[in-house]
Amino acid sequence: MRLYVVPLGVVEVDVAKFMPWEPERGERYSGPVAGFLVQTDHGRNVLVDTGLSPDHIDDPEARIAGPDVKVTMRPEDDIRHQLGLLGLAPADIDTVVVTHFDFDHCGGNRFFPQASFVVQREQYAYAQTHHERCFPQDWDLPELDYRLVDGDLELMPGIELVATPGHAPGHQSVVVRGLEHTGTVILTSDAAHTHVEFEQERVDGTPDPVTILASIQKLKAIRDAENATILLCHDADAWSTTYRLLPDYYD
Ligand SMILES: [Zn+2]
Repeated sequence: MRLYVVPLGVVEVDVAKFMPWEPERGERYSGPVAGFLVQTDHGRNVLVDTGLSPDHIDDPEARIAGPDVKVTMRPEDDIRHQLGLLGLAPADIDTVVVTHFDFDHCGGNRFFPQASFVVQREQYAYAQTHHERCFPQDWDLPELDYRLVDGDLELMPGIELVATPGHAPGHQSVVVRGLEHTGTVILTSDAAHTHVEFEQERVDGTPDPVTILASIQKLKAIRDAENATILLCHDADAWSTTYRLLPDYYD
């Protein structure tokens, strides 16, 4: 079993508007955009999120106009390019876990019509009624097959979906178990943005602090019980120091 961290671009945000819980970051914060690929012992390829739409390569404001958010996406940051580095094509992906439908997590969904997408029912319903946040051109496509689930679920041996609402209704994280050398890894997605928010439980100023705190503590309980490795989606500090990025991997 292998787990790859897939680099898919950078989103820079205005700290006061988007991360007021970490004022020490200064005016701007540049967070990486990450997807994850799990290759199981049974030969399944499971993708967790698909990153940004390649519409952003030529038009950084393809989804959100500046200056509060600034997207940087190069051709190499396209999920198809990254999979290609491993010799994989989109058709090799069996399952795509959608943690939530924010634009930096589902922008490549359109490239996987053969896959089964798995999303929490609550997030799917939310996205359908919040097109100003969850841009339908990225995810609401007739050729995509969405399987709706409710709450925590063992998706397949070694891969558990864990409901972590707060950042968005029906937001989910993924627990990967059974990596031979690494053990358990928790893919938090946006249950927390940075290790500071996660470890220090900086929830003041977040959109739904009570729910976000409960989700952080839920993941910490798993981390503590299983000595798990935490991989956040947008943590610039860990990204440049401790994360193993594709083509490297966790096994
Ligand atoms: Zn995000």
